[in-house]
Amino acid sequence: MSLRINFDVINKIEALGSQGMEKCYNCGNCVGICPMELNILPRKIFRYALLGVHDKLIEEKEMIFSCLLCKRCEESCPSDVPISENIRLLRYYINREEFKI
Ligand code: SF4
Ligand code: SF4
Repeated sequence: MSLRINFDVINKIEALGSQGMEKCYNCGNCVGICPMELNILPRKIFRYALLGVHDKLIEEKEMIFSCLLCKRCEESCPSDVPISENIRLLRYYINREEFKI
C-alpha cells in the first residue's frame, strides 16, 4: 500500500473545510473514551489527511464510517480539535473520491 504524499489530496481536503486537525498531538485521551473503541481515530486518520495519503484514508474507510459522531472524544480533547466535524468531512471526501457520490 502506497504512502505517497499527495498535494492534490491535501488541497481537496482543505477545500472541503477541514478544521484544526493539525492541533492533534497524539495524546490518546480520545481513544479511551470512544464507545466504538476507534483507536486510530483521530490520531492517525487526521495525520493521513494532513499528509494527503489517500490510500490510507480509503484503507481505513470502515473505521471512518463507524464513528457515531457522538462527540464524546471532543470533551476529552485538550486541543479542542473538532473531531466529529472533520470525520464528517472525510466521509464526504471518501464518498466523492471513491464511490463517486
Ligand atoms: S465522535 Fe466518533 S471517534 Fe469520537 S467518541 Fe464518538 S464514536 Fe468515538
Ligand atoms: S484527544 Fe485531541 S489531541 Fe489528543 S489524540 Fe485525541 S484529537 Fe488528538
